Amino acid sequence: MRLGCIADDLTGATDLALMLAREGLRIIQTIGIPRADLDLSGADAVVVALKSRTLPAQDAIAQSLAAAKSLRMGGARHLFFKYCSTFDSTDEGNIGPVTDALLAFTESDFTLACPAFPANGRTVYKGHLFVNGVPLHESSMKDHPLTPMRDSNLVRVLERQTKLPVGLVSYEDVEAGPDAIRLAFEREKAAGHRIVIVDALSDPHLRAIGLAAADLPLMTGGSGVAMGLPAAYRQSEDLTAPSSSTGFGAPAGRSIILAGSCSSATREQVKTALDAGLPALRLDALDLASGIMTAPMALDWLKSQPGNGPALIYSTANPDEVQAVQSRLGRMNAGEIVENTLAEIAKALPALGFTRLIVAGGETSGAVVNALDIDALAIGPEIDPGVPWTRSLAGNDLALALKSGNFGTPDFFLKAWKMLR
Ligand code: ADP
Repeated sequence: MRLGCIADDLTGATDLALMLAREGLRIIQTIGIPRADLDLSGADAVVVALKSRTLPAQDAIAQSLAAAKSLRMGGARHLFFKYCSTFDSTDEGNIGPVTDALLAFTESDFTLACPAFPANGRTVYKGHLFVNGVPLHESSMKDHPLTPMRDSNLVRVLERQTKLPVGLVSYEDVEAGPDAIRLAFEREKAAGHRIVIVDALSDPHLRAIGLAAADLPLMTGGSGVAMGLPAAYRQSEDLTAPSSSTGFGAPAGRSIILAGSCSSATREQVKTALDAGLPALRLDALDLASGIMTAPMALDWLKSQPGNGPALIYSTANPDEVQAVQSRLGRMNAGEIVENTLAEIAKALPALGFTRLIVAGGETSGAVVNALDIDALAIGPEIDPGVPWTRSLAGNDLALALKSGNFGTPDFFLKAWKMLR
C-alpha cells in the first residue's frame, strides 16, 4: 500500500477514493477503522472514512491515530489527512489538532494544508480560500450550523487551531512548478514553519503540488490535492499501470435497484426505468405505515420475478406526495419507516441470489449498507460523476452502486449494469 488516507467524514472519503481511482490507483474504502482481518494487500491506497469532523478534538485525534496505526500496519508508506474543501472546522479544531497528532505519529516535521478543489470552485490565493469566487467568510459557509467559517485567511484559521508555526507557499511558487514548490517548502522549513498553506487555482497547480509533496510522510488537504499523487508514484517506481481491462468484475447473480430517494434526478431515473418496462414495485409510505404492504410481501413479489434482469423497488414519490405523507406520519417517522423497510428487504437479498445492487439515496444507502453489514468496499469505475461501482470486501460478495439522490443521468438504472462483467 502506497498511501493510507484518513477522511473526517464518509462522503469526503468517497470523494477522495474516486479521485485516486480515476487517476489509476486500486482503492479500498473502509467505513470506520479497518477490521484487523481485512486483507488490504491488493490496494495501492486505502481510504478510511471516519465521522470525526465535529467531534471534540481529543476524540478526533484518538480516532485518527487509531486509523493511522491500522494503515501503517497494513503497509502504508505515506499518510493523507482529508478534510473538506471549505476547511470546515472551528477554532478548537479539528484540522489543526489532528494534523499536529499525525505529524508526531509520522515523526515528521513538515506538512502542507491545501483544501483547494478548483473543479468545485474552491481556490486558494495568497492563503485566502474562495468558494466560487467569493471569500470563504462571505460564502454560505459563514452560517454553517456546526462549523461557521468567518475568516477566509487560512494561515490565521490554522494558527488558531495548532501549536505549530504556520507558513504560506503562494501562487507564484506553485505556478513555477514542482521544483519551485520543493524549494519553497525548504524555505518555509528554514523559517521554522511546520505546516504550510499552499495556494492553488487550477488542476495543473494541484498536479504540481502532488509531484512536489508525494514524498512527504504526511499530506493534508481536500481531495483535489491528491490528484497529482498517482502520477508522482508512477514516476518514482513500483506502481502498476491503470488496468485497461473493460468492465468491473462482479459476482454472478441477480440484479436489483432499491430507490429510497425522492430527489429530482432519482424521480427521472425511476420514470425512465418504468418507461423501459423494468419490473417494478412501488412502496407507498402510508401502506408501509399501516401494514398493508410489508418487506416480506415485497420479497414475495421479488421471488416471483423471472430471470436475472434488474427489478426495481422504489418509494420514490413527488414532492406533494411526500408532503402529504409527512403531514400524516411526521417527517422523521416517514423516513424511518421507508428506510427500515428497504433495509429489511436488502438484508434478505443475498439469500435470494441477488449480488448486483444499485441503491438510490444517501440515507437509504447508509441504511442498506448497515443492514448488509458491509464495512469495506473496493472502488471500481465511475458510472456517472460521484458514483462508482464498488465491490464489498468480506461478508456477502456484492457489487454495489450507492447513488446520492441527485446524481446520475436519467438512464442510470438502465446503463449502469453494462459496466459489469
Ligand atoms: P437523497 O440522497 O435523495 O437525499 P435519502 O435516501 O438521503 O435520499 O433521503 C430520502 C429520505 O426520504 C429517506 O429517509 C427515505 O426513507 C425518505 N422517503 C423515501 N420515500 C419516501 C416517501 N414516499 N415518503 C416519505 N419519505 C420518503
